[in-house]
Amino acid sequence: MDSKKMGFNTICTHLGEIKDEQFKGAISPIYLSTSYAFEDVDTKRYPRYFNTPNQEALCKKIAKLEKGESSLIFGSGMAAISTTLFSFLQKGDHIILQRTLYGGTTNLINEEFEKHGIEFSFVDSQTVKGFEEKIKSNTKVIYIETPSNPLLTIIDIEKVAELAKKNKIITMIDNTFASPVNQNPIELGIDIVLHSATKYLGGHSDILAGAVVSTEKNIDKIFQVAKNFGGSLSDFTVWMLERSIKTLGLRVKRQNKTALKLSKWLEKHVDIAAVYYPGLKSHPDFEIAKKQMKGFGGMLSFELKEGLNASQFQKELKLIKSSMSLAGVESTILSPTLTSHALLSEQERALQGIKDGLLRFSVGIEEKEDLIQDIQQALNKIKILELEH
Ligand SMILES: *Cc1c(COP(=O)(O)O)cnc(C)c1O
Repeated sequence: MDSKKMGFNTICTHLGEIKDEQFKGAISPIYLSTSYAFEDVDTKRYPRYFNTPNQEALCKKIAKLEKGESSLIFGSGMAAISTTLFSFLQKGDHIILQRTLYGGTTNLINEEFEKHGIEFSFVDSQTVKGFEEKIKSNTKVIYIETPSNPLLTIIDIEKVAELAKKNKIITMIDNTFASPVNQNPIELGIDIVLHSATKYLGGHSDILAGAVVSTEKNIDKIFQVAKNFGGSLSDFTVWMLERSIKTLGLRVKRQNKTALKLSKWLEKHVDIAAVYYPGLKSHPDFEIAKKQMKGFGGMLSFELKEGLNASQFQKELKLIKSSMSLAGVESTILSPTLTSHALLSEQERALQGIKDGLLRFSVGIEEKEDLIQDIQQALNKIKILELEH
């Protein structure tokens, strides 16, 4: 079939698969060799050159899902992010980043960039004007992440891309939270799309991987740096990731649907003070989200009413697990103040609007009624404890 005409779930299931010519098996065989016959100067196969058969096959699938020309896969999301940033930035260059980034990315910037003589500015506002104000003559990259963690704020991707193009600046986006199911930034003018494949692409909380998608030319530039940094992943993981992506569309669409219903239920609940979900009309960025997203995602966050203990609430949950990571088929919850954003000062958290009672919820594929029941029974328990005090 012509891959140009393939729909999303067909790409997930089939594109790039390796035919089992020997035994006619249904799935891609896994090739674990780290040593291949030296055929000619152009085809030196080696895992750290990102060109084993399984790596090449999976890269085709991921590039297609993000509507890019080419892609590379890495041993972690941070390997993809750091390698890509260092491919486009050198001593004397400047980068503009939004303030509310994944904690690991913020740490990479704060701890490594100064050593390498790279200047950076964080933008506190979500508006394009906020980014425009930071542009300098040596600005090379604008880096965004939308929806953001943990308050699901949305940045207008098209407008940021437009601003960057006008100023000949490369744009990068961390598209992990949306996944390629809900948002394709390349269609909106972004140059480079990054993923922690540990999250929705993997989807089962058992794979650590990352990916970058862009034009052939940009991917080649990243590859030249990537082979020196050595962040490629094992072919076992590549094979697991290929298998996981087969159900990406099914999983994420289900997660979208449940997250929207749950956020509406939480919004009406007397014990809940606030709900943050880009699919709610009450979300300040709802209109932008509607414009650029195909679905609103499986991530939401909420605050309990004053006087209700969020940590105790988490402990009382029976089905929903407390967990650092996200995007698995199982629902998970965490307190940003105690975990993902614990390294920030109280002031920095306040600046980002993160209250101590905030809980971030990664919606799984369980039945909605069971999730609601679990939340309700935990609320009942903590209210009884509150009364006993
Ligand atoms: C988890 C995550 C990362 C980092 O990915 P790893 O696979 O843990 O290295 C980057 N960005 C976002 C949005 C993430 O959630």
